[in-house]
Amino acid sequence: MPASLSDQLPPARTPMRALRDRQVRQAMTRGFMGHCPNCGKGKILRNYLKVVDHCSVCGEDFSHQRADDAPPYFTILIVGHVIVPLMFFVEIEYSPSLLLSMLGWPALTALCCVALLPRVKGAVVGMQWAMRMHGFGGPTID
Ligand SMILES: [Zn+2]
Repeated sequence: MPASLSDQLPPARTPMRALRDRQVRQAMTRGFMGHCPNCGKGKILRNYLKVVDHCSVCGEDFSHQRADDAPPYFTILIVGHVIVPLMFFVEIEYSPSLLLSMLGWPALTALCCVALLPRVKGAVVGMQWAMRMHGFGGPTID
């Protein structure tokens, strides 16, 4: 009996296999909470946004991560979609003073971005790890 097509493909290059043995949702949740996407115990970030080189518990190598501009992009996207409708609602319903609006909304936006950015970065690195992107899948066969 001939082997199925998925059995003939190399494991690191097959997206469906990569998704099967590394759960994307679990890895992103662990990263969002600031933990290692592999073991869920070690920390993924040190200082504020610096990704650790290796997990202190399981030794998973995170030097392959390439989060780049994705975390700020997603942070702005999420915060903007929450703050702008909230701002319209409050302005229409309560009509706060101009001074309060000019000081309050930028401050709230900045606080939300500062709080969310490291969590989004952890989730992005977790997604990259789970999907075996940028060298997270181990050595490739060419
Ligand atoms: Zn770990």
